[in-house]
Amino acid sequence: MADPRPWPDAATRLAAVIGWPVGHSLSPAMHNAAFRALGLNWAYLALPVPPDRVVESVRGLAGAGCGGLNVTIPHKVAVLGACSAVSPAVAAIGAANTLVPDGAGGFRADNTDAAGFLRALDECAPLHLDGAEVLLVGAGGAARAVAFALRGRGARVRVANRTPARAAELGDPVGFSPADLDRAAGRAALVVNATSLGLGRDDAPPELPLAGLGPGQVAYDLVYRPGGTPWLAACAARGARTVDGLEMLLHQGAAAFAQWTGAEPPLAAMRAGLAVRT
Ligand code: NAP
Repeated sequence: MADPRPWPDAATRLAAVIGWPVGHSLSPAMHNAAFRALGLNWAYLALPVPPDRVVESVRGLAGAGCGGLNVTIPHKVAVLGACSAVSPAVAAIGAANTLVPDGAGGFRADNTDAAGFLRALDECAPLHLDGAEVLLVGAGGAARAVAFALRGRGARVRVANRTPARAAELGDPVGFSPADLDRAAGRAALVVNATSLGLGRDDAPPELPLAGLGPGQVAYDLVYRPGGTPWLAACAARGARTVDGLEMLLHQGAAAFAQWTGAEPPLAAMRAGLAVRT
C-alpha cells in the first residue's frame, strides 16, 4: 500500500549538490536511496549555481538550514570563500567537495574525494602502498585529491599530464608521450586515470598508458560510465586488477552522508541507487 504521509513535509531536511552544469549528477539518486533506506526525512536536490553566485548561494543555503552540500565542477575552490573552516584535507588539496553545517549558521569545508578514492581501492584491489610507485595521469582537481591520498599512505607519486607544468606542480613529472607513459606504467604498482579522457569513447583513449600494464598491477579510472570505461576494460583484458570510478563516487558520497546525518551509510542501497541511473 502507498505511504499516505505527504513528503516532503515541514520537517524535511535539505541536502544538495551545487555545480554548473549539474543536471548529469548521479548524487541525487545515490543519496535519496540512502535516505529512503534508513527512513530519514531528508531530500537531496541538484542545484545549478552559476559561477558568479556561488558564495551568496552557499551562505543563503547555510542560513536556511540546509543539512549538507556536495560541490562539483567548477565550484570546488570558489566555495571556500563562503566557509567558516576547512579540514586538513581541504587545506592540503586546495578544494572542497563536501560542506557540513558548522553549528553556527555556516558551513565548514571537507574533501571526501581523497578518502573515497582510498576506500574504493582498499575494497576492490587492496595494495600495499607504502613505498609503492604510482603513475597518476592528470593534474586537475581530482588528481590533487588522489595525490594527497596516496602520499598519506607513503606512495611515490609520478605525474603525467597534457600540460607538463601542471604535472610538475603536483609531483615527480613524467612525459606525456605514449612511450613515456607505457614505460612509467610498467614500473608502477598502480596507474590512475584522473583526466576526463574516456568518457565519450568506445575504445581506450590512445593518450592513456596500456602496453606497460599487466598482471600484478592495478588500473584505477576516476571516469565512470555505464558498463565501465574502455580503458579499464582494456587493462582488465591485459590481466590488471581494476577499480571503477563509480566505487570512488560511492565512497566519497558515503563519507559525506555520514558527516551530515551521523548515520552509518547504507552502501548497498546507495549502490542500487547509482545502478538505477547508470
Ligand atoms: P579538471 O580539474 O578539469 O582536470 C581535468 C584533467 O584532465 C587535467 O589534467 C587535463 O589536462 C586533463 N585533460 C582534459 N582533457 C584532456 C585531453 N583531451 N587530453 C589529455 N588530458 C586532458 O577535472 P577534475 O575535477 O580533476 O576531474 C577529472 C575527471 O575525474 C573527470 O572525468 C571527473 O568526472 C572525474 N572525477 C571522478 C570522481 C569520482 O568520484 N569517480 C571524483 C572527481 C572527479 P590539462 O591540465 O592539460 O588541461
